[in-house]
Amino acid sequence: MCGAEVVSQVVAGPPPDDLTPTGGGLGAARPWGRSRVDAAWRALDDVLDPEVPALSVRDLGIVRDVIDHGDALEVVLTPTYSGCPATEVIEKSVVDALVAAGLGPVRATTRRAPAWTTDWISDEGRRKLREYGIAPPSGHAAASTGEAPIRLVRRSDEAVACPRCGSTHTERLSAFGSTACKALWRCLACREPFEQFKPI
Ligand SMILES: [Zn+2]
Repeated sequence: MCGAEVVSQVVAGPPPDDLTPTGGGLGAARPWGRSRVDAAWRALDDVLDPEVPALSVRDLGIVRDVIDHGDALEVVLTPTYSGCPATEVIEKSVVDALVAAGLGPVRATTRRAPAWTTDWISDEGRRKLREYGIAPPSGHAAASTGEAPIRLVRRSDEAVACPRCGSTHTERLSAFGSTACKALWRCLACREPFEQFKPI
C-alpha cells in the first residue's frame, strides 16, 4: 500500500511487458544509471526478515528482481509461506529502505508464480541460520511438484543436523516451532533443542 502511494504520482499504468531497461536511457534524466539497481540490491542486504532477523530479504531469496523503469524502481517480491503474515511488513520495509537510500520512487510488486521455496535461501543465508541456532532447510525441497508421496517418505528419513554441534543424531519434537515456518527439534548428542526452517 505504501509502495502504491509512492508510485502513483509517476506511474500511470501497469508496468510494460518488456521489462528490459531501455538502452540509451541512462542519461542525465537517470543519474543512477545501472548502479541504481546495484545500489538497490546492496540496500536490500540490510532489510531483515521480520520473522528470522538473522536473514535479509536477499538471503531469503524473496527478492526476485529489481527493475529500473527510469521514473521508478520496481522491486519484485515472492512471498514465502502463504501463512506467514509478514509479507506486508516486508514490502513496506523494502520500499522504505530504498527510498531512504535515495533510490525512490519505489514500488513493490508481488510475483506468486513460481512459488517461493526454501531452495531459494542463499548459501550465505543458510550459514547465518546455523549461526543463529536454526537448522537450515534441507535442499531439494522444490521437488515437491509431482513428487509428494516420495517427498513424504524422504522427509521422515532425512537427517537434520544440529546447528550447534553438527550431529545428525536428532529427533523432531513438534511440527511447529515459534512460528508455523519452523519445526522444533532436539539434538540427542548435545541435548539442546533447536528449530529447523521447514523445507517447502
Ligand atoms: Zn547438538
